[in-house]
Amino acid sequence: MKKKKRIVIALGGNALGNALSEQMDAVKTTSKAIVDLIEEDCEVIVVHGNGPQVGMIQNATSALKREDSTQPNIPLSVCVAMSQAYIGYDLQNALREELLDRGLCNTPVATMITQVLVDDKDPAFQSPSKPIGKFFSKSEADELEKSYGYTMQEDAGRGYRRVVASPKPTEIVELETIRSLVDSGEIVIACGGGGIPVTKSENHLSGVGAVIDKDFASELLAENLDADFFIILTAVEKVAINFGKPEEKWLDNLSTDEARQYIDEKHFAPGSMLPKVEAAIKFAESKPGRVSLITLLEKAKDGILGNTGTRIEM
Ligand code: ADP
Ligand code: MG
Repeated sequence: MKKKKRIVIALGGNALGNALSEQMDAVKTTSKAIVDLIEEDCEVIVVHGNGPQVGMIQNATSALKREDSTQPNIPLSVCVAMSQAYIGYDLQNALREELLDRGLCNTPVATMITQVLVDDKDPAFQSPSKPIGKFFSKSEADELEKSYGYTMQEDAGRGYRRVVASPKPTEIVELETIRSLVDSGEIVIACGGGGIPVTKSENHLSGVGAVIDKDFASELLAENLDADFFIILTAVEKVAINFGKPEEKWLDNLSTDEARQYIDEKHFAPGSMLPKVEAAIKFAESKPGRVSLITLLEKAKDGILGNTGTRIEM
């Protein structure tokens, strides 16, 4: 029997929408794109972002705390765990329904609550860069800094937000469980929101107030599971150089050397396209034959068939 192609996909914000009601609809379109790949006889592992969802959960828990000061302060790591379950619940259901609608009755779907190790000496901890949750006034921000040791930063005249570090993932704690589920033919949703960031001290894991970029966590998962393809599904069909400028050029194929050169020439915006291209390079260079692809959510199947998207290879 021919070995199935193993694909790790990273879903961007557009795959889930920004609010509760949007997510219900968005997961239907997302599930169609994923089941298209199952019909192409691929094994699929799904990683998703969680920016708006973890923000919503954190806002709800902090609003409760403001209303009743005896309520506990819920750590960000717990909010990430909650967001994995909430998103997994919606995605799992939408995938199940889409599979059954297409007569694919033997493909179970599972969500794995996933912890991802980070290094407490990661330089990212020295310069928190990722804004999360709602905006606060100056006095509220000062209070939060004092009470919880949060780092609060002014955000483009819109108020103050908590900023957290975005360290690199070093190890996926539940990797072997994910592997057995994938090997037994399940669609697995894992490393949601980049994973719950934890640090290790002997046998003890502690959650940390940080956010791991889902583009890097999914890349690590793709390497660890020996995937053939790593696909980043986002809001653009291809990667461009001179993005948004008159001389903009959309790219079909990119060697990892060319990609690195374009990074040096600053063609990719930090925090959006840059981590994707960096993750794509890392996967493509991790073993001969591995291919990274960046494309639009709805074009996942076309991308796999070689018809669109930006393919990054060594
Ligand atoms: P996601 O939620 O999928 O992670 P992001 O918004 O973080 O999506 O990143 C994708 C966005 O990056 C695109 O929608 C596009 O606006 C932007 N972008 C920045 N630089 C480029 C580039 N060089 N080529 C294509 N898109 C780019
Ligand atoms: Mg992003």
